[in-house]
Amino acid sequence: MAGILFIISAPSGSGKSTLVNEVRKQLTGIEFSVSWTTRPPRGSEQDGREYHFTSREEFERMAASGEFMEHAEVFSKDLYGTPRSSLEQARREGHDLVLDIDVQGAAQVRASMPEAVSIFVLPPNPKVLRTRLRNRSRAEGVVDEAEVFRRLGEARKEIENYREYGYILVNDILDRAVAQLEAIVLAERFFRNAEPIAFRSHRVLEVAAGCLQINSAERLKPVLEAFGIGSPPGQQQFNFGEDSDDD
Ligand code: ADP
Ligand code: 5GP
Repeated sequence: MAGILFIISAPSGSGKSTLVNEVRKQLTGIEFSVSWTTRPPRGSEQDGREYHFTSREEFERMAASGEFMEHAEVFSKDLYGTPRSSLEQARREGHDLVLDIDVQGAAQVRASMPEAVSIFVLPPNPKVLRTRLRNRSRAEGVVDEAEVFRRLGEARKEIENYREYGYILVNDILDRAVAQLEAIVLAERFFRNAEPIAFRSHRVLEVAAGCLQINSAERLKPVLEAFGIGSPPGQQQFNFGEDSDDD
């Protein structure tokens, strides 16, 4: 059976890795592509598990010899790339493949593989995103406020690209977002590969349809407003809510 390629993008700290890990615990036949990066490992990250960590020289050599299916400089800082071997292996095994990549990488993959299913994950608002970025930093033993602030700024730029994605997930309540991501995978397997849905199939298809970008205007409106997206230039600012003190 032909595997499906899923692209997931989200501002850093939205909970994309958490969502993908949860869904992989529930579903079989889905692989996660481990990217190469020039950034150093964070916290408990292990080489070969979250990323393959490498030097800029080695990364550039790999890029020049065509080993990546896409690659990009993210946050104008570090290089990230998806190895072609991930796709080749998933295809050989007939498995689905998930790429957790930024908006630039997603655009490159969509251009060469328009059949890919793309999903954009959003945090409900900037305040929640800031808290998640801080919590993650704390868990990794470093709270770098400048980095948290920088990633918040990048978040707005990334979110502006949401229209390029077929599905939108707002990761507010984790269980609900996990169920939505699972529903999207099952619905795509059903429509593309005629794979039956074992349990509550009508409900699963309904949940997935609700996540289609074309059906998401209402859910998206408060999120975009909170990030100041759609406001006239010069008035774009984060809305951290009434109490904008430290969390
Ligand atoms: P990303 O992969 O998008 O950068 P992570 O999955 O690392 O984000 O999540 C960032 C932080 O937010 C982690 O500490 C994670 O446990 C937490 N988190 C993720 N989703 C939720 C959620 N729905 N509710 C509360 N915390 C969450
Ligand atoms: P982080 O450093 O927080 O793990 O990831 C930063 C950003 O890089 C995230 O938006 C993540 O999706 C993106 N990213 C991770 N791997 C790749 C990749 O292989 N290619 C591209 N283009 N982006 C990636």
